[in-house]
Amino acid sequence: MKPVLPAATLPRPTILIVDDLPVNLVALRRLLAKVDAEIVAAGSGNEALALTLEHDFALILLDVHMPDMDGYEVAQLLRGEERTRDVPVIFVTAAYKDDVHRIKGYDAGAVDYIEKPINEIVLLSKVRVFIDLHRSRAELRHFLGLIEDANRRLSVEIEERRRSEEDSQRLAGTVFATSAEGIIVTDAENNVVAVNPAFSAITGYDPAEVIGRNPRILQSGCHETEFYAAMWEQLRTARQWQGEIWNRRKTGEIYPQWLSVSVISDADGSVSRYVGIFSDITKRKRDEEQIWRQANYDGLTGLPNRALFLDRLSQAVADARRDRHGLALMFVDLDHFKLINDTLGHSIGDLLLQEAGRRLAACVRDNDTVSRLGGDEFTIVLKRIDTAKGAASVAAATVAEKVIGALARPFWLDGSQFAIGASIGITIFPDDATDEDTLLRNADMAMYRAKETGRNTFAFFTRDMNERVQTLATLGNELRHAIERDELVVYYQPIFEAGTLRVEGAEALVRWQHPRLGLVAPGEFIPVAEETGLIGTLGEWVLDAACNDAVTWQKPGRPPVSVAVNLSTRQAKLGLARFTRFATDVLQSTGLPPHLLKFEITESFIIEESDKMLAWLRSIRDMGIQLSIDDFGTGYSSLSYLRRLPVDIVKIDRSFVSEVSINADDAALVRAIVSMAHGLRMQVVAEGVETPEQLAFLQSVECDLVQGFHFRPPLPADEFRAFLDEYQWPVAVR
Ligand code: C2E
Ligand code: MG
Ligand code: MG
Repeated sequence: MKPVLPAATLPRPTILIVDDLPVNLVALRRLLAKVDAEIVAAGSGNEALALTLEHDFALILLDVHMPDMDGYEVAQLLRGEERTRDVPVIFVTAAYKDDVHRIKGYDAGAVDYIEKPINEIVLLSKVRVFIDLHRSRAELRHFLGLIEDANRRLSVEIEERRRSEEDSQRLAGTVFATSAEGIIVTDAENNVVAVNPAFSAITGYDPAEVIGRNPRILQSGCHETEFYAAMWEQLRTARQWQGEIWNRRKTGEIYPQWLSVSVISDADGSVSRYVGIFSDITKRKRDEEQIWRQANYDGLTGLPNRALFLDRLSQAVADARRDRHGLALMFVDLDHFKLINDTLGHSIGDLLLQEAGRRLAACVRDNDTVSRLGGDEFTIVLKRIDTAKGAASVAAATVAEKVIGALARPFWLDGSQFAIGASIGITIFPDDATDEDTLLRNADMAMYRAKETGRNTFAFFTRDMNERVQTLATLGNELRHAIERDELVVYYQPIFEAGTLRVEGAEALVRWQHPRLGLVAPGEFIPVAEETGLIGTLGEWVLDAACNDAVTWQKPGRPPVSVAVNLSTRQAKLGLARFTRFATDVLQSTGLPPHLLKFEITESFIIEESDKMLAWLRSIRDMGIQLSIDDFGTGYSSLSYLRRLPVDIVKIDRSFVSEVSINADDAALVRAIVSMAHGLRMQVVAEGVETPEQLAFLQSVECDLVQGFHFRPPLPADEFRAFLDEYQWPVAVR
């Protein structure tokens, strides 16, 4: 055997030489120098035996004739010891003619003889044989050790593996038994071989009812055969399938599950088992659906919300484009909703929106969509409209009229009756635009136009709207600088005593002298100012200007002329105390007597934060300033409500005044307001008087004051001053 180990890993062999004559030992040592071995020498048998305790000799060269203990004795003792039994012994002896000695030597354990005088070649060759033998043995021992080691390790490993296999089998068993997911195992023919408890819990089938059968019994019938074919095809090619599948429980209930199927193969690659793991995703689906509903439907009205509306709109546009149909988009904004909400509280407001939503939905066909964008804004998408010229407009107008009619019917909420109306903007695909964004913008603009024209109407989009709306959108920024640049101006519209037509005072009405747009009416920028909070500064500016001007109107010999300033609800919200201080300062610095100043407020002004507001109104009255309720009749406060208010004047809204001479209801209403107000010792102003008939009627019901285009429109400050100067003051001054 070739040594395969590096020499260094095996110890160098050691040879013991034993002879009583030191000269022989020297000679032997010299001869053995050619052998790759350590040489240890002993001068006697005893010494030799002692040395065997310290060394592990590869070979012993033993002199036979030694004085106290001869070689045979030594050899016999060596054979008797476990440690040295196998150490080869070569006797070194004089040549014997007879074999008696030889035999004695072999008996004693010699393996060979070397005769003296020693022949070097014979010695070396014999010694080398034994050294090699020793080395081979050492190697063998070493390898045996390694093999033993490896064996030991191997058996440890085997034990570990066995244990871990047992563990994982136990684990798999536990998982199988306790998993919340249903597990079903089928054989190569797809017959059920095992199911776990979760399977039974989910499907309702006991193992005995399914084992040996085809899982087909679980199918719901919801999927086409192609579905299963595709699943098997994927199992064949990818050995894995997962997806959502609808199955049937034993009870017959159909439910969704998330299923993943794996193929388990034999060593030769053929199918041995199919393992299906599934979970019941009914709850997840329900949650998803709820989340979807919440994300897509308005919680209050149950109508599609903005997100779903946009989705439906783009779907409708795509359909219309493909099928060459027309489509109408309508924006519906409830009139006065904000006021109701502010005045009567959100719960009434909510009820109203719900009812309005129901009425709107009843106005359209099933495949049209009514959505709530938020607040009091609704949209309607009318689909599949004829594209013939004018047909779309007719269809949309018909629906718009229906909607207006539906919303005009009184609302009974919480035991009381309410009236609202709607302003509707309409745009048509493909006439006005062919993309959703433009359609949305168009409908919005048209709706604003409808609102401007007078509420409870609808307006179609027209091209000229675009430009105007775009300019208005930029107003917010410019308004900021309007005051600094002195672009705001106050106009004054005279107010007359109805009976004598004597000028009693004037209403201050602000305008914006815009560098590009010309004179902009307050209806266009007051809402912007309110939204941006600029109304605070703007209101103070108007009050200051009005008081300064009013001081110049007072002349000796002329009856005093009062000035009425409009206040916005928003202004009050920005801080009552600050406004009071400002008013006090202005009155002081201008010297205008407080009783010549009036504040015009609306009903919403009072009803919001009512207690605080009432206290403030009283404090204003205590300063000597008079208070008017503006636009009376458009809000929702009853006449009797007026009694609670610290108010001196009621201004009847011009929408009632405009009809008094032709509409009996309005005439009756105005009459009632006047008599009620007088009963409460309040004065009544009729605004928007445009005709002599209106004036005559107002005089007949003893309305106190009148204001309107019939007399004068609002005038710039200097024109108003000139008007006062030229005015023929009636002689009968009270
Ligand atoms: P308002 O206080 O009801 O003012 C009366 C409005 O009726 C004025 O419109 C006036 O020009 C208009 N008017 C007067 N007589 C007639 C008539 O015979 N026929 C018709 N059709 N209209 C008539 P204006 O000046 O456009 O103001 C609109 C609204 O803007 C005002 O309604 C008021 O609420 C608000 N406003 C005006 N100036 C200010 C202000 O300085 N501050 C605040 N907060 N609001 C203001
Ligand atoms: Mg007013
Ligand atoms: Mg008014």
